[in-house]
Amino acid sequence: TSFAHFGFDEQLMHQIRKSEYTQPTPIQCQGVPIALSGRDMIGIAKTGSGKTAAFIWPMLVHIMDQKELQSGEGPIAIIVCPTRELCQQIHAECKRFGKAYNLRSVAVYGGGSMWEQAKALQEGAEIVVCTPGRLIDHVKKKATSLQRVTYLVFDEADRMFDMGFEYQVRSIASHVRPDRQTLLFSATFRKKIERLARDILVDPIRVVQ
Ligand code: AMP
Repeated sequence: TSFAHFGFDEQLMHQIRKSEYTQPTPIQCQGVPIALSGRDMIGIAKTGSGKTAAFIWPMLVHIMDQKELQSGEGPIAIIVCPTRELCQQIHAECKRFGKAYNLRSVAVYGGGSMWEQAKALQEGAEIVVCTPGRLIDHVKKKATSLQRVTYLVFDEADRMFDMGFEYQVRSIASHVRPDRQTLLFSATFRKKIERLARDILVDPIRVVQ
């Protein structure tokens, strides 16, 4: 597979070419068409596999489609991950590729300034990259709303569980509208992750790196 097979438009292809990737990684070859089709997906993949772009590129296409359908406020896509570092990395990739369509991304994570994050959320962004507890804090304080979210990603789910975020992960899923598209990434596929997948995904397709 080459990038041309994904059917991305010229604006997104331009950003991908700028990144100097020569060809899609295996998780991208398998995952991108599934995510573009609108299906829920479980990706069993580790860092270094290119999994981040595998959910970001289809997310950008999804956002552009949704923007035509629904006006309103609040993010259209949310990416939930375990740590501040990962949050910042994913946010950087969202900004890089989101340039294709002038989409805005905000990163909210534990340890950062609540006030500054709330301000950024209120200025508006189609994409929010977050750690679970901090997102819930902002929603409780009404700094943002999950009402418009239709693309939900949980990245490194096994690590979030190891860090004790299971309750928060499930809480976020339960507060996003049920007609969303959900993608779940995990390095391992243990019983607890399997159970989570059964509870928050609808008829998912499984992709193994
Ligand atoms: P990830 O597994 O998403 O953390 O990505 C690992 C690294 O691979 C990141 O630095 C990405 O920028 C890079 N990367 C993602 N997709 C590709 C690709 N198709 N070709 C080369 N590098 C890539």
